[in-house]
Amino acid sequence: MFGIYDRSGRLGTGEVLGRLLKTWNQQETNKYCGHCGRHVLALRPATPRLRNLLWTVLTLGAWSVVWLIQSRRRPGWRCAQCGRQVV
Ligand SMILES: [Zn+2]
Repeated sequence: MFGIYDRSGRLGTGEVLGRLLKTWNQQETNKYCGHCGRHVLALRPATPRLRNLLWTVLTLGAWSVVWLIQSRRRPGWRCAQCGRQVV
């Protein structure tokens, strides 16, 4: 499809975009999960910083209040295996 650049081992455009979007929308770290009894990959949704920044500029700073409230409400880390909250 893309001539010599198309190799079977490469990721498709959709896959790359999906991974990028995933990295943008969530943060990852290693945490101990009491339920799984071991260290697991923990995930939490990231705040849409770029969108918030844009809105803050557009509303001449008024959106920063919403941004603050949003970041306080943010859910904590969750175990990628069982989905339970981890500390
Ligand atoms: Zn777990």
